Amino acid sequence: MTRVHLGHIYHVAGSPTVSEAASALVSIPDGALVIDETGRIVFCGERTAIPATHRAATVVDHRPGFLLPGFVDAHIHFPQTYAGDSYGGGQLLEWLNLCIYPSESRFADSEFAHHAAVEFCNRRIAAGTTAAMVFGSPFPHAQDALFTQTQRSGLRIVSGRGIQTVGPETARPLLTSESDAIRLTREEIDKWHAADTGNVDTALLHVAIVPRFALAVTTETLKNLGELYDSVRNRGVYVHSHLNENDRPNTGEVDATKQAYQVNSYLDTYDGKFLPGSSVGGKSLLGRRTILAHSVHCQDVELARMAETGTSIAHCPVSQQFLGSGTMPWKRTAASGVNIAAGTDFGAGDEFLISRVLADAFKVHISEPGKHSVSLHPAEMLFTGTLAGARALDMESRFGNFDVGKEADFVVVDPSGTPALRAPLSHGVRSSDGDLARDQTLFTLLMGIRESSIAEVYVQGSRVTALQESSGKRGSRGLSSLREASNGAQAPRAAGGGRCADPGPPRRSNAESMVG
Ligand SMILES: [Zn+2]
Repeated sequence: MTRVHLGHIYHVAGSPTVSEAASALVSIPDGALVIDETGRIVFCGERTAIPATHRAATVVDHRPGFLLPGFVDAHIHFPQTYAGDSYGGGQLLEWLNLCIYPSESRFADSEFAHHAAVEFCNRRIAAGTTAAMVFGSPFPHAQDALFTQTQRSGLRIVSGRGIQTVGPETARPLLTSESDAIRLTREEIDKWHAADTGNVDTALLHVAIVPRFALAVTTETLKNLGELYDSVRNRGVYVHSHLNENDRPNTGEVDATKQAYQVNSYLDTYDGKFLPGSSVGGKSLLGRRTILAHSVHCQDVELARMAETGTSIAHCPVSQQFLGSGTMPWKRTAASGVNIAAGTDFGAGDEFLISRVLADAFKVHISEPGKHSVSLHPAEMLFTGTLAGARALDMESRFGNFDVGKEADFVVVDPSGTPALRAPLSHGVRSSDGDLARDQTLFTLLMGIRESSIAEVYVQGSRVTALQESSGKRGSRGLSSLREASNGAQAPRAAGGGRCADPGPPRRSNAESMVG
Protein backbone atom coordinates (compact mmCIF):
# COMPACT_ATOMS: atom_id res chain seq x y z
CA MET A 1 0.00 0.00 0.00
CA THR A 2 1.37 3.39 -0.94
CA ARG A 3 1.73 5.87 1.91
CA VAL A 4 2.18 9.61 1.98
CA HIS A 5 4.20 11.06 4.86
CA LEU A 6 3.75 14.78 5.43
CA GLY A 7 6.23 17.08 7.16
CA HIS A 8 9.04 19.57 6.66
CA ILE A 9 11.54 17.67 4.52
CA TYR A 10 15.29 18.24 4.60
CA HIS A 11 17.75 16.14 2.61
CA VAL A 12 20.86 16.44 0.47
CA ALA A 13 19.80 15.37 -3.00
CA GLY A 14 21.76 13.69 -5.76
CA SER A 15 25.30 12.49 -5.25
CA PRO A 16 27.39 15.51 -4.28
CA THR A 17 30.73 15.73 -2.50
CA VAL A 18 30.74 17.34 0.92
CA SER A 19 31.83 20.65 -0.57
CA GLU A 20 28.84 20.50 -2.93
CA ALA A 21 26.37 19.60 -0.18
CA ALA A 22 25.14 23.14 0.45
CA SER A 23 24.03 23.60 -3.14
CA ALA A 24 22.37 20.17 -3.06
CA LEU A 25 20.36 20.90 0.09
CA VAL A 26 16.62 20.48 -0.34
CA SER A 27 14.13 22.01 2.10
CA ILE A 28 10.40 21.54 1.59
CA PRO A 29 8.47 23.06 4.50
CA ASP A 30 5.12 21.68 3.30
CA GLY A 31 6.59 18.47 2.02
CA ALA A 32 5.37 15.04 1.08
CA LEU A 33 7.29 11.79 0.88
CA VAL A 34 5.39 9.13 -1.05
CA ILE A 35 6.47 5.53 -0.52
CA ASP A 36 5.18 2.57 -2.49
CA GLU A 37 4.38 -0.91 -1.26
CA THR A 38 7.97 -2.04 -1.82
CA GLY A 39 9.27 0.64 0.54
CA ARG A 40 10.73 2.80 -2.21
CA ILE A 41 10.37 6.54 -2.63
CA VAL A 42 8.15 7.37 -5.59
CA PHE A 43 7.75 11.09 -4.91
CA CYS A 44 9.47 13.72 -2.78
CA GLY A 45 8.20 17.25 -3.14
CA GLU A 46 5.55 19.80 -2.27
CA ARG A 47 2.40 18.38 -0.69
CA THR A 48 0.36 20.31 -3.19
CA ALA A 49 2.24 18.68 -6.07
CA ILE A 50 1.62 15.02 -5.20
CA PRO A 51 0.86 13.27 -8.50
CA ALA A 52 -2.77 12.37 -8.99
CA THR A 53 -1.91 8.69 -9.07
CA HIS A 54 -1.07 8.89 -5.35
CA ARG A 55 -3.98 11.05 -4.20
CA ALA A 56 -5.85 8.04 -2.83
CA ALA A 57 -2.89 6.82 -0.83
CA THR A 58 -2.98 6.59 2.95
CA VAL A 59 -1.65 9.78 4.50
CA VAL A 60 0.46 9.91 7.64
CA ASP A 61 0.56 13.50 8.81
CA HIS A 62 3.66 14.33 10.87
CA ARG A 63 3.24 18.11 10.65
CA PRO A 64 4.66 20.27 12.15
CA GLY A 65 7.36 17.63 12.46
CA PHE A 66 10.36 17.16 10.20
CA LEU A 67 11.37 14.29 7.93
CA LEU A 68 15.12 13.63 7.66
CA PRO A 69 16.98 10.73 6.06
CA GLY A 70 17.82 8.03 8.61
CA PHE A 71 21.11 8.63 10.38
CA VAL A 72 24.07 6.46 9.40
CA ASP A 73 26.62 5.63 12.09
CA ALA A 74 29.84 4.64 10.35
CA HIS A 75 31.57 3.47 13.53
CA ILE A 76 30.07 2.11 16.75
CA HIS A 77 31.05 -0.74 19.09
CA PHE A 78 28.45 -3.36 20.00
CA PRO A 79 30.50 -4.89 22.88
CA GLN A 80 30.83 -1.42 24.40
CA THR A 81 27.06 -1.07 24.80
CA TYR A 82 27.54 -0.77 28.56
CA ALA A 83 30.92 0.99 28.46
CA GLY A 84 29.95 4.51 27.44
CA ASP A 85 32.01 7.21 29.13
CA SER A 86 34.00 4.73 31.19
CA TYR A 87 36.16 6.52 33.75
CA GLY A 88 39.61 5.54 34.92
CA GLY A 89 41.38 4.71 31.70
CA GLY A 90 42.80 7.95 30.38
CA GLN A 91 43.72 7.99 26.70
CA LEU A 92 43.22 5.28 24.09
CA LEU A 93 45.66 2.49 24.85
CA GLU A 94 45.30 2.70 28.63
CA TRP A 95 41.52 3.07 28.33
CA LEU A 96 41.35 -0.08 26.19
CA ASN A 97 43.47 -1.96 28.68
CA LEU A 98 41.79 -0.82 31.88
CA CYS A 99 38.16 -0.20 30.86
CA ILE A 100 37.30 -1.74 27.53
CA TYR A 101 38.89 -5.17 27.35
CA PRO A 102 37.34 -6.14 30.71
CA SER A 103 33.99 -4.75 29.61
CA GLU A 104 34.03 -6.56 26.26
CA SER A 105 35.06 -9.79 27.97
CA ARG A 106 31.67 -9.93 29.68
CA PHE A 107 30.17 -10.82 26.29
CA ALA A 108 31.63 -14.30 26.75
CA ASP A 109 28.36 -14.93 28.63
CA SER A 110 25.77 -15.65 25.95
CA GLU A 111 22.81 -14.48 28.05
CA PHE A 112 24.61 -11.22 28.77
CA ALA A 113 25.37 -10.80 25.09
CA HIS A 114 21.72 -11.41 24.17
CA HIS A 115 20.50 -8.68 26.51
CA ALA A 116 23.17 -6.35 25.19
CA ALA A 117 22.06 -7.01 21.62
CA VAL A 118 18.48 -6.03 22.47
CA GLU A 119 19.72 -2.94 24.29
CA PHE A 120 22.01 -2.03 21.41
CA CYS A 121 19.22 -2.25 18.82
CA ASN A 122 16.87 -0.22 20.99
CA ARG A 123 19.47 2.49 21.54
CA ARG A 124 19.91 2.67 17.77
CA ILE A 125 16.17 2.94 17.20
CA ALA A 126 15.88 5.64 19.86
CA ALA A 127 18.62 7.57 18.07
CA GLY A 128 17.22 7.10 14.58
CA THR A 129 20.32 5.26 13.36
CA THR A 130 18.85 3.27 10.50
CA ALA A 131 22.18 1.98 9.16
CA ALA A 132 25.46 1.34 10.91
CA MET A 133 28.92 -0.14 10.62
CA VAL A 134 29.16 -2.00 13.90
CA PHE A 135 32.43 -3.14 15.38
CA GLY A 136 31.53 -6.53 16.78
CA SER A 137 32.37 -8.86 19.61
CA PRO A 138 34.93 -11.61 19.07
CA PHE A 139 32.48 -14.17 20.45
CA PRO A 140 30.40 -15.86 17.72
CA HIS A 141 27.37 -16.26 20.02
CA ALA A 142 27.41 -12.50 20.67
CA GLN A 143 27.51 -11.77 16.95
CA ASP A 144 24.70 -14.27 16.41
CA ALA A 145 22.67 -12.34 19.00
CA LEU A 146 23.49 -9.02 17.36
CA PHE A 147 22.48 -10.15 13.87
CA THR A 148 19.40 -11.96 15.16
CA GLN A 149 18.11 -8.98 17.13
CA THR A 150 18.98 -6.55 14.36
CA GLN A 151 17.05 -8.64 11.86
CA ARG A 152 14.16 -8.79 14.30
CA SER A 153 14.20 -5.01 14.64
CA GLY A 154 14.28 -4.30 10.91
CA LEU A 155 17.39 -2.09 11.12
CA ARG A 156 20.29 -2.24 8.69
CA ILE A 157 23.67 -3.43 9.88
CA VAL A 158 27.17 -4.17 8.69
CA SER A 159 29.18 -5.92 11.39
CA GLY A 160 31.94 -8.38 12.01
CA ARG A 161 33.60 -10.01 14.98
CA GLY A 162 36.46 -7.94 16.40
CA ILE A 163 39.66 -9.79 15.52
CA GLN A 164 42.53 -9.82 18.01
CA THR A 165 45.46 -12.22 18.01
CA VAL A 166 47.78 -10.32 20.36
CA GLY A 167 47.16 -8.04 23.32
CA PRO A 168 47.79 -7.30 26.98
CA GLU A 169 46.66 -9.55 29.81
CA THR A 170 43.24 -7.87 30.13
CA ALA A 171 42.52 -8.69 26.47
CA ARG A 172 43.21 -12.40 26.90
CA PRO A 173 39.52 -13.50 26.74
CA LEU A 174 39.19 -11.63 23.44
CA LEU A 175 42.18 -13.24 21.71
CA THR A 176 42.18 -16.21 19.39
CA SER A 177 44.85 -18.20 17.64
CA GLU A 178 45.86 -17.14 14.15
CA SER A 179 43.93 -20.00 12.58
CA ASP A 180 40.77 -19.40 14.63
CA ALA A 181 40.86 -15.71 13.73
CA ILE A 182 40.43 -16.62 10.08
CA ARG A 183 38.13 -19.59 10.60
CA LEU A 184 35.67 -17.71 12.82
CA THR A 185 35.63 -14.72 10.49
CA ARG A 186 34.98 -16.89 7.48
CA GLU A 187 32.21 -18.71 9.33
CA GLU A 188 30.57 -15.41 10.25
CA ILE A 189 30.63 -14.31 6.61
CA ASP A 190 29.10 -17.57 5.47
CA LYS A 191 26.44 -17.48 8.18
CA TRP A 192 25.33 -13.84 8.18
CA HIS A 193 26.39 -12.00 5.05
CA ALA A 194 23.12 -11.20 3.22
CA ALA A 195 21.50 -13.90 5.34
CA ASP A 196 18.13 -12.12 5.37
CA THR A 197 17.52 -12.02 1.62
CA GLY A 198 20.27 -14.14 0.15
CA ASN A 199 21.20 -11.22 -2.09
CA VAL A 200 23.83 -8.66 -1.12
CA ASP A 201 22.05 -5.97 -3.14
CA THR A 202 18.78 -6.28 -1.22
CA ALA A 203 20.03 -7.41 2.19
CA LEU A 204 19.79 -5.45 5.42
CA LEU A 205 22.44 -7.65 7.05
CA HIS A 206 26.06 -7.55 5.89
CA VAL A 207 29.35 -8.78 7.33
CA ALA A 208 32.69 -7.03 7.67
CA ILE A 209 36.22 -8.24 8.37
CA VAL A 210 37.18 -6.30 11.50
CA PRO A 211 40.72 -6.41 12.83
CA ARG A 212 40.59 -4.28 15.98
CA PHE A 213 43.61 -2.28 14.91
CA ALA A 214 47.10 -3.07 13.68
CA LEU A 215 48.44 -3.37 17.23
CA ALA A 216 45.91 -6.11 18.07
CA VAL A 217 47.02 -8.40 15.26
CA THR A 218 50.25 -9.66 13.69
CA THR A 219 51.82 -9.66 10.25
CA GLU A 220 50.54 -13.23 9.95
CA THR A 221 46.98 -12.12 10.78
CA LEU A 222 47.15 -9.28 8.29
CA LYS A 223 48.49 -11.58 5.58
CA ASN A 224 45.74 -14.13 6.23
CA LEU A 225 43.02 -11.46 6.39
CA GLY A 226 44.25 -10.05 3.09
CA GLU A 227 43.85 -13.44 1.48
CA LEU A 228 40.47 -13.95 3.08
CA TYR A 229 39.27 -10.57 1.89
CA ASP A 230 40.56 -11.21 -1.59
CA SER A 231 38.45 -14.36 -1.70
CA VAL A 232 35.22 -12.63 -0.57
CA ARG A 233 35.60 -9.11 -1.98
CA ASN A 234 33.31 -9.86 -4.90
CA ARG A 235 30.60 -10.99 -2.47
CA GLY A 236 30.31 -7.46 -1.14
CA VAL A 237 32.00 -8.12 2.20
CA TYR A 238 33.28 -5.09 4.14
CA VAL A 239 36.43 -4.18 6.09
CA HIS A 240 36.44 -2.05 9.22
CA SER A 241 39.16 -0.93 11.61
CA HIS A 242 40.78 2.04 13.36
CA LEU A 243 43.48 4.34 11.97
CA ASN A 244 45.64 7.18 13.33
CA GLU A 245 43.62 7.88 16.47
CA ASN A 246 46.10 8.70 19.24
CA ASP A 247 49.36 10.47 18.34
CA ARG A 248 50.89 10.84 21.78
CA PRO A 249 54.65 10.82 21.11
CA ASN A 250 56.36 7.43 21.52
CA THR A 251 53.72 5.78 23.68
CA GLY A 252 50.53 6.54 21.73
CA GLU A 253 48.82 4.29 19.20
CA VAL A 254 50.32 5.85 16.03
CA ASP A 255 53.93 5.70 17.17
CA ALA A 256 53.48 2.29 18.78
CA THR A 257 52.13 0.94 15.48
CA LYS A 258 54.96 2.38 13.43
CA GLN A 259 57.47 0.99 15.93
CA ALA A 260 55.88 -2.46 16.01
CA TYR A 261 55.68 -2.82 12.24
CA GLN A 262 58.58 -0.54 11.22
CA VAL A 263 56.38 0.98 8.51
CA ASN A 264 56.37 4.44 6.99
CA SER A 265 52.69 5.00 7.61
CA TYR A 266 50.02 3.42 9.79
CA LEU A 267 47.81 2.95 6.73
CA ASP A 268 50.44 0.70 5.14
CA THR A 269 49.60 -2.00 7.70
CA TYR A 270 46.11 -2.29 6.17
CA ASP A 271 47.34 -1.85 2.61
CA GLY A 272 49.35 -5.07 2.36
CA LYS A 273 52.60 -3.20 3.12
CA PHE A 274 52.97 -4.35 6.71
CA LEU A 275 56.58 -5.60 6.59
CA PRO A 276 59.56 -3.47 7.71
CA GLY A 277 60.17 -0.51 5.47
CA SER A 278 56.55 -0.82 4.29
CA SER A 279 57.48 -3.76 2.12
CA VAL A 280 54.63 -5.71 0.62
CA GLY A 281 53.71 -8.74 2.70
CA GLY A 282 50.20 -9.46 1.50
CA LYS A 283 47.05 -8.15 -0.11
CA SER A 284 45.37 -4.82 0.64
CA LEU A 285 42.31 -4.45 2.84
CA LEU A 286 41.42 -1.05 1.35
CA GLY A 287 38.55 -0.35 -1.03
CA ARG A 288 35.11 1.17 -1.44
CA ARG A 289 33.67 -1.11 1.25
CA THR A 290 36.37 -0.26 3.80
CA ILE A 291 35.81 2.24 6.62
CA LEU A 292 38.65 3.37 8.87
CA ALA A 293 37.58 5.11 12.05
CA HIS A 294 39.18 8.33 13.27
CA SER A 295 42.01 9.01 10.80
CA VAL A 296 42.79 12.08 12.90
CA HIS A 297 46.54 12.22 12.31
CA CYS A 298 46.96 11.16 8.69
CA GLN A 299 49.86 11.99 6.44
CA ASP A 300 48.89 13.44 3.06
CA VAL A 301 50.03 10.21 1.43
CA GLU A 302 47.58 8.25 3.58
CA LEU A 303 44.65 10.51 2.72
CA ALA A 304 45.54 10.29 -0.95
CA ARG A 305 45.67 6.49 -0.80
CA MET A 306 42.31 6.30 0.96
CA ALA A 307 40.76 8.61 -1.62
CA GLU A 308 42.33 6.62 -4.46
CA THR A 309 40.97 3.31 -3.18
CA GLY A 310 37.52 4.63 -2.21
CA THR A 311 38.18 3.93 1.47
CA SER A 312 36.05 6.08 3.80
CA ILE A 313 36.76 7.75 7.11
CA ALA A 314 34.40 7.46 10.07
CA HIS A 315 34.82 10.82 11.78
CA CYS A 316 34.17 10.58 15.53
CA PRO A 317 34.68 13.94 17.24
CA VAL A 318 32.67 13.02 20.36
CA SER A 319 35.03 10.12 20.95
CA GLN A 320 38.11 12.12 20.02
CA GLN A 321 37.31 14.67 22.68
CA PHE A 322 36.51 11.99 25.25
CA LEU A 323 39.82 10.16 24.73
CA GLY A 324 41.93 13.26 24.07
CA SER A 325 42.73 12.08 20.57
CA GLY A 326 42.86 15.51 18.96
CA THR A 327 40.96 17.01 16.05
CA MET A 328 40.90 15.67 12.51
CA PRO A 329 41.90 18.59 10.25
CA TRP A 330 38.65 19.12 8.37
CA LYS A 331 39.80 21.27 5.47
CA ARG A 332 42.84 19.16 4.64
CA THR A 333 40.97 15.88 5.00
CA ALA A 334 38.00 17.01 2.91
CA ALA A 335 40.31 18.53 0.28
CA SER A 336 42.00 15.14 -0.17
CA GLY A 337 38.78 13.82 -1.66
CA VAL A 338 38.32 11.02 0.87
CA ASN A 339 34.72 10.40 1.88
CA ILE A 340 34.07 11.49 5.49
CA ALA A 341 31.13 9.88 7.29
CA ALA A 342 30.13 10.32 10.93
CA GLY A 343 30.63 7.79 13.71
CA THR A 344 29.66 7.83 17.35
CA ASP A 345 32.38 5.34 18.36
CA PHE A 346 30.17 4.56 21.37
CA GLY A 347 31.39 3.80 24.05
CA ALA A 348 34.45 6.01 23.57
CA GLY A 349 32.18 8.88 24.36
CA ASP A 350 28.65 9.16 25.46
CA GLU A 351 26.36 9.67 22.49
CA PHE A 352 24.36 7.24 20.34
CA LEU A 353 22.91 10.13 18.35
CA ILE A 354 24.66 10.97 15.11
CA SER A 355 23.30 14.52 15.26
CA ARG A 356 25.26 14.97 18.50
CA VAL A 357 28.37 13.88 16.58
CA LEU A 358 27.56 16.45 13.89
CA ALA A 359 27.11 19.12 16.56
CA ASP A 360 30.51 18.32 18.04
CA ALA A 361 32.01 18.31 14.56
CA PHE A 362 30.76 21.86 14.14
CA LYS A 363 32.33 22.88 17.46
CA VAL A 364 35.72 21.25 17.03
CA HIS A 365 36.23 22.41 13.46
CA ILE A 366 35.32 26.03 14.10
CA SER A 367 37.86 25.77 16.93
CA GLU A 368 40.71 24.64 14.69
CA PRO A 369 43.54 27.20 14.79
CA GLY A 370 43.85 30.16 12.45
CA LYS A 371 43.18 29.53 8.80
CA HIS A 372 42.26 25.91 9.52
CA SER A 373 39.07 26.99 11.30
CA VAL A 374 35.90 26.22 9.39
CA SER A 375 32.24 26.89 10.10
CA LEU A 376 30.58 23.79 8.71
CA HIS A 377 27.46 24.47 6.68
CA PRO A 378 24.38 22.72 8.10
CA ALA A 379 24.04 20.91 4.77
CA GLU A 380 27.58 19.59 5.15
CA MET A 381 26.66 18.37 8.63
CA LEU A 382 23.49 16.65 7.38
CA PHE A 383 25.40 15.17 4.44
CA THR A 384 28.09 13.75 6.73
CA GLY A 385 25.52 12.07 8.97
CA THR A 386 23.37 10.63 6.16
CA LEU A 387 24.47 10.45 2.52
CA ALA A 388 28.22 10.22 3.25
CA GLY A 389 27.44 7.33 5.58
CA ALA A 390 25.49 5.54 2.88
CA ARG A 391 28.43 6.16 0.55
CA ALA A 392 30.87 4.78 3.12
CA LEU A 393 28.73 1.64 3.26
CA ASP A 394 28.73 1.51 -0.54
CA MET A 395 24.94 1.63 -0.46
CA GLU A 396 24.39 5.18 -1.66
CA SER A 397 22.26 3.84 -4.49
CA ARG A 398 19.85 2.36 -1.91
CA PHE A 399 19.46 5.03 0.81
CA GLY A 400 20.96 8.20 2.31
CA ASN A 401 18.58 10.77 0.86
CA PHE A 402 15.08 11.08 -0.59
CA ASP A 403 15.88 10.71 -4.27
CA VAL A 404 13.10 8.91 -6.11
CA GLY A 405 13.76 5.18 -6.39
CA LYS A 406 15.68 4.86 -3.14
CA GLU A 407 14.58 2.73 -0.22
CA ALA A 408 12.76 4.96 2.27
CA ASP A 409 14.89 5.21 5.40
CA PHE A 410 13.86 8.23 7.43
CA VAL A 411 13.28 9.66 10.86
CA VAL A 412 10.40 11.81 12.03
CA VAL A 413 11.59 14.63 14.25
CA ASP A 414 8.90 15.94 16.58
CA PRO A 415 10.17 19.02 18.42
CA SER A 416 7.29 18.93 20.88
CA GLY A 417 9.09 16.18 22.78
CA THR A 418 12.12 18.38 23.37
CA PRO A 419 11.43 21.84 24.82
CA ALA A 420 15.03 22.91 24.22
CA LEU A 421 14.54 22.23 20.50
CA ARG A 422 10.99 23.48 20.22
CA ALA A 423 11.81 26.86 21.74
CA PRO A 424 14.47 28.03 19.26
CA LEU A 425 12.47 26.61 16.34
CA SER A 426 9.48 28.65 17.46
CA HIS A 427 11.14 31.84 18.62
CA GLY A 428 14.68 31.94 17.22
CA VAL A 429 15.61 34.82 14.92
CA ARG A 430 15.53 33.90 11.24
CA SER A 431 17.10 35.84 8.42
CA SER A 432 14.98 37.67 5.89
CA ASP A 433 17.11 35.87 3.33
CA GLY A 434 15.21 32.68 2.54
CA ASP A 435 18.23 30.46 2.00
CA LEU A 436 19.90 31.58 5.19
CA ALA A 437 16.67 31.13 7.16
CA ARG A 438 16.44 27.61 5.73
CA ASP A 439 20.01 26.89 6.83
CA GLN A 440 19.40 28.39 10.27
CA THR A 441 16.44 26.11 10.89
CA LEU A 442 18.40 23.03 9.79
CA PHE A 443 21.26 24.06 12.05
CA THR A 444 18.86 24.44 14.98
CA LEU A 445 17.56 20.95 14.27
CA LEU A 446 20.98 19.33 14.06
CA MET A 447 22.19 21.04 17.22
CA GLY A 448 19.00 20.52 19.16
CA ILE A 449 17.78 17.01 18.35
CA ARG A 450 17.85 14.60 21.28
CA GLU A 451 16.48 11.07 21.59
CA SER A 452 13.27 12.67 22.88
CA SER A 453 12.89 14.38 19.48
CA ILE A 454 13.07 11.18 17.40
CA ALA A 455 9.37 10.34 17.21
CA GLU A 456 9.39 7.61 14.56
CA VAL A 457 12.00 5.65 12.61
CA TYR A 458 11.47 3.95 9.24
CA VAL A 459 13.58 1.52 7.22
CA GLN A 460 12.46 0.62 3.69
CA GLY A 461 9.23 2.47 4.40
CA SER A 462 8.35 0.29 7.40
CA ARG A 463 8.35 1.64 10.90
CA VAL A 464 10.78 0.09 13.37
CA THR A 465 9.94 0.15 17.06
CA ALA A 466 11.74 -0.90 20.21
CA LEU A 467 12.26 -4.62 20.72
CA GLN A 468 10.72 -6.31 23.70
CA GLU A 469 13.27 -8.07 25.85
CA SER A 470 11.29 -11.22 26.53
CA SER A 471 11.86 -13.32 23.46
CA GLY A 472 14.48 -13.63 20.79
CA LYS A 473 12.42 -15.90 18.59
CA ARG A 474 9.69 -13.70 17.19
CA GLY A 475 9.06 -12.90 13.58
CA SER A 476 11.94 -11.08 12.05
CA ARG A 477 10.19 -7.96 10.96
CA GLY A 478 6.86 -7.02 12.41
CA LEU A 479 5.90 -4.46 9.84
CA SER A 480 6.87 -6.26 6.68
CA SER A 481 5.22 -9.40 8.02
CA LEU A 482 2.05 -7.45 8.50
CA ARG A 483 2.35 -5.81 5.14
CA GLU A 484 2.32 -9.19 3.49
CA ALA A 485 -0.30 -10.68 5.75
CA SER A 486 -2.93 -8.00 6.10
CA ASN A 487 -3.21 -6.52 2.64
CA GLY A 488 -3.29 -3.13 4.28
CA ALA A 489 -6.35 -3.79 6.39
CA GLN A 490 -4.63 -2.17 9.34
CA ALA A 491 -4.32 1.30 7.89
CA PRO A 492 -2.97 4.15 9.96
CA ARG A 493 -5.15 7.15 10.56
CA ALA A 494 -5.64 9.37 7.59
CA ALA A 495 -4.65 12.99 7.35
CA GLY A 496 -6.57 15.15 9.75
CA GLY A 497 -6.71 12.35 12.27
CA GLY A 498 -4.09 14.05 14.37
CA ARG A 499 -0.50 15.07 14.06
CA CYS A 500 2.01 12.27 14.01
CA ALA A 501 -0.57 9.66 13.14
CA ASP A 502 1.07 6.60 14.52
CA PRO A 503 1.02 3.44 12.45
CA GLY A 504 3.56 1.71 14.70
CA PRO A 505 2.31 -0.02 17.81
CA PRO A 506 -0.98 -1.45 16.54
CA ARG A 507 0.67 -2.73 13.38
CA ARG A 508 3.45 -4.18 15.38
CA SER A 509 1.26 -6.07 17.83
CA ASN A 510 -0.86 -7.23 14.97
CA ALA A 511 2.22 -8.42 13.16
CA GLU A 512 3.34 -10.35 16.17
CA SER A 513 0.01 -12.08 16.41
CA MET A 514 0.29 -12.97 12.73
CA VAL A 515 3.63 -14.64 13.12
CA GLY A 516 3.33 -15.92 16.69
ZN1 LIG B 1 36.30 2.66 17.85
